[in-house]
Formats: sequence, structure tokens, C-alpha cells
Amino acid sequence: MLKKILLIVCVILSFSSYSITIDYSLRMPKPQNHYFEVEMKITKVSSKFIDIKMPVWTPGSYMIREFSKNVNLVVAKDELGNNLNVNKISKNTWRIQTKGIKEVKINYEVYAFELSARSSFLDQSHGFVSGSSIFMYVDGEKETNGKLDIYPHEDFNVISTSLPKPRDSIRFENAKTFAFTNFDHLVDCPIEIGNQDVFEFTAAGVKHTVAIYGVGNYDVEKLKKDMKNVVETTTSVIGQNPNKFYTFIIHNVTDGQGGLEHVNSATLSVDRWSYQGKQYIDFLSLVAHEYFHLWNVKRIRPIELGPFNYDQENYTTLLWVMEGFTSYYDELLMRRARYLTEQEYLQKLNSVLNYVEGSEGSRVQPVAHASFDAWIKGYRPNENSSNTTMTYYSRGQLIGAMLDAKIIAKFEGNKSLDDFMRTLYYKLYKNKDRGFTEQEFEQTLSDFMREDMHDFLAMYVYDTKVPNYAEIFNLIGVNVEYTGVKKAYFGMSYSKEGIPTVKTIRTNAEAENAGVSVHDEIIGFNGFRIDGASLEASLAALKTGDSFNLLVARDQIIMEIPCKMGEIEIPNFKLSINNSSTNSQLCSYWLRTISK
Ligand SMILES: [Zn+2]
Repeated sequence: MLKKILLIVCVILSFSSYSITIDYSLRMPKPQNHYFEVEMKITKVSSKFIDIKMPVWTPGSYMIREFSKNVNLVVAKDELGNNLNVNKISKNTWRIQTKGIKEVKINYEVYAFELSARSSFLDQSHGFVSGSSIFMYVDGEKETNGKLDIYPHEDFNVISTSLPKPRDSIRFENAKTFAFTNFDHLVDCPIEIGNQDVFEFTAAGVKHTVAIYGVGNYDVEKLKKDMKNVVETTTSVIGQNPNKFYTFIIHNVTDGQGGLEHVNSATLSVDRWSYQGKQYIDFLSLVAHEYFHLWNVKRIRPIELGPFNYDQENYTTLLWVMEGFTSYYDELLMRRARYLTEQEYLQKLNSVLNYVEGSEGSRVQPVAHASFDAWIKGYRPNENSSNTTMTYYSRGQLIGAMLDAKIIAKFEGNKSLDDFMRTLYYKLYKNKDRGFTEQEFEQTLSDFMREDMHDFLAMYVYDTKVPNYAEIFNLIGVNVEYTGVKKAYFGMSYSKEGIPTVKTIRTNAEAENAGVSVHDEIIGFNGFRIDGASLEASLAALKTGDSFNLLVARDQIIMEIPCKMGEIEIPNFKLSINNSSTNSQLCSYWLRTISK
């Protein structure tokens, strides 16, 4: 037995002494040109060549973004400073000939001028590094640990990131050094470099650092109090916070783009004036959303989502759980944390329900397919998307609400969806330390519910059936009244400013039957010149069955199109609490607040 252990130790030691080391440095000497300069120092090279690769996507944002398009001037040198042969062998791979060389230095520059949570940015005011769009990895060596030296521009004084400091001290005077355990870790810790506003708070036993870039109407003391409340309410779902520290990077911009989750940090891109009124609750909801992801998707996750393949799409059918349930919680937690009344929460869920049931795509695309096709459809919408797609965020949120209702009813107010999330966390993530398959998810759900959940998933996840909302929500004392009525409807949307131009046509609506097309400019109605406002008024005055003519310009050709006003019944449901229901105590449990 001892001999065997010694052998294993020797194998580990010999393996580690021969495996390569990779250290990075990052410079930004001229921020106004938006170029980050990256150096990779690779030692203990023993192969004839090495391939370095740039990721094609950022985990959490399911689209191929081709980050290699921003990479220039890839140069490799040996220990003596001699240039090595560098050849491109695929869109994101550079091959470096290293025969007989032990140490290689690779330099390249990356153009960074897209400020969003999923891409990188550099100008005179700050730098933001989303690692998968800046750092390359050595093919076959993604598990290698290393260090990152950041040389901030002389005008930048602060670096905010969840990357830890290495155990040994700083090696270079004007650099800050960080350590990473593998490539996933390096790129899962976004980095803000500049003169951002930084504050800290402790919540759920975890030290939180908040780094805010950009002018905004925020109040640091209020944020400390509210973000702590949101973090603690969110942590109470699973009941255990696996992090020791956590970093929020917030970009205050003119047009906020939402957030991106990481294992122990999040980047939020928000409108700079969103820190008051209803917008502030939306901001706190975004905080809850990205924070909940530290469990749901970063730890509780489909097997395809980590460790990641940075070279291509990582397909999963389970984003309706990852994003849908997270969306369900980001609003429910606003109720639990007392930012919404029961009525306000119900109103929010009601809007989602009516959006989902009112969309043509809801009957076309199951959410399992929406998840799988996020890469080509969800993230790449076109003018026909509303006819053919359904977002896994919204329908997934509804499925989360329905499952919560079923669980609360089944266990008579002693369990909720929280308990199922905890089961996923402990049974699948903690026990197995990996993601789960689709089959494991279904089995875990069925075991938890003590009934076969296959048919439920088959109808609402893998098919597009309309759930019996009344039956499901009645279980927890919520009435669902159908209030949809037929109304005159033509079925096109158009820009209201300038010449009205058609943006979308609804499948099977009269606009489609008449032959009106997306991009048509509508210049006349029943023989009169028209603009956006008057077209809207003219259409609103028509009854079902009325005939009219549209004069349109299509590719510079003028044509008159005879049309008829159609009819539609847009589904409309109304959720309300039934206080006289025998299940009303279950509704109170569902919409409970937690004590502060
Ligand atoms: Zn999300």
C-alpha cells in the first residue's frame, strides 16, 4: 500500500516538474488607442510546437463572438530574443515552432472597444477585461496555473477583481500580481482597471467588494444596505454561500446592457440614472439575478457548461433552468426582501405569463430547443423571431413558478422550489463536483417530487403545450381568470418616426395575407399621404372586416396593396390572490418575506 502511494507521489512530482508554466502580463500604455498588450511567458516547453488559442465565446453569453478578430501582431521569441516561426492554422489558433526551446515569450495586442459585460474595453477613463476576449491559452494546457501581472496605465490607480493575490510578494514595482488556478479561473474573474468608486460590505459571511465605474445617481450607503439585503435574501435560498469573497463590477452607462455572472463576481451594465424609483428595484433585481447564478449555472449546472470548450458552441437544452429559474428568483426575491408587495409581485408574474402566451413563437419553439439554439436564434434575433422563437428566460420563469406551486402544494407548505434547488446543489454539484445530464435532472426532479415528472417536462419543456394555469396556481390559492377578447388587428409593427417602415409581420395575420412585407415604407393610406402617427390613428379607427389600401415603397418601387382589417384574440390571464381559498396559507408561504 505504502509503495503504491510513493509511486503515485513520484508520478505527480515528475508530471508537475515537466509540465509547462504559463504567466501573463497585461499592459495598456496608450488607452486612447483601445489596445491591451498581452505577454504570455511559457516555460518548461518540451514539444516541437505549441498552439495558442483565443476563445471564440464568453461563458454565460451563448454566442460565437470570434474574439480572435481583435488580435494583432502575434510575435513569439525564444530565451535569447530570437523570433520563432508563428503560423495561423485556424481562425483562432496560432502555431509556434518550439523545437529544442524551453522558454517562449509570446506578445500580442487586442483591440478592446466594446463596453459590455461580455467583452473588453479600454479608453482614457478605464479598462475592463473580460478574460475570454483578452487571454489566449495553450492548447492542451488549460489546467495549468500561473500568474498575471497587470501594469495599469499611469492614470489608473485601482484594480478590482476576484483574482486572488499570489502567496509570494509582488515581483515588479509598477505591476500588481494576481494568481489563477487554471484558464477557467483566469477568465472567470473580470477585471476593472481605472479610478472606480470602490466600497465593501459583508453579507452572508462573505466580503463583498463593489467597484463602480461611471457617473450615476447612486448613493453608496443605500447601496451597501440594499445590496447586503439582496445578497442575504438570495443566499437564503440555498442556505450556504460557497464564496469567501465576491466582487461586483458595475458600469454606469447611457444604455445599460444587463449583467454577466461568474463564480465569485458579476459585471453589471446599468443605466447611470437607474438608482431611484422603480428602476432601482430593477437594478436590485439584476443584482439578485447575477448573484443567484453563483449557484444556478456556475455550480448547479448542465454538464456541458463547465469546464468549457472555448473553441466552439457548448450546447445544452437546460438554459430554461439556468436562466428561467434565475429569472423566477430575481423577481420573487424582490418580494422576499420586501421591495415588492404581494400584488406588485403578482403583477410582474402576470406580465410574463401574458407575454409568453401572447407570442406566436410560444407555440413554435419548445424551450429545450430555444436553449440548444441560443447560439443561432436567441442571441441572433431577426425580424421573424417573434413568430418562431420563445425565450427560455420567460417561459423558463413560468415553468419555475409552476413547479414552485406544485412543490408547495404537494408538501403542504413545508417545501418549495428552494428545496429542489438545494437538492440539485448538494446531490449533484457537491456530491459529484460536476455538472449534470438532462436525464439526471429529470430523475432528480422525479425523485424529489415522488412522482414521475416526465410528462410535465415533455409537455412544457420539450413541447409547447399551454399549461392549465388555473389548475396549477389554484393549488396555492391563486385564481387565474382568462380575460382575452377578440379585437380588430392587422398584424404589423412599424417605426413611428418619419416614414413608417414595417418592422415585423405576425404570422397568419391580415398584413401577411395582403402581402405587406418587412422593410416596406408606408407612404399612403386610402389615397392620402401618411406619417407614423396618422397611420396609427387610421388603423385604430377600422373595424374587423373593413377594407383599405396602403401605398408602399419597396426597393424604390411604389405599389398599392389592398388590405382588410383582421381580428385576433390575444390571450390575457389575470392572476389574483383568493383569500377565501382553503389554500390561502400556501399563498402566504409562497409570497413570504424573510426577516432582516
Ligand atoms: Zn442570467
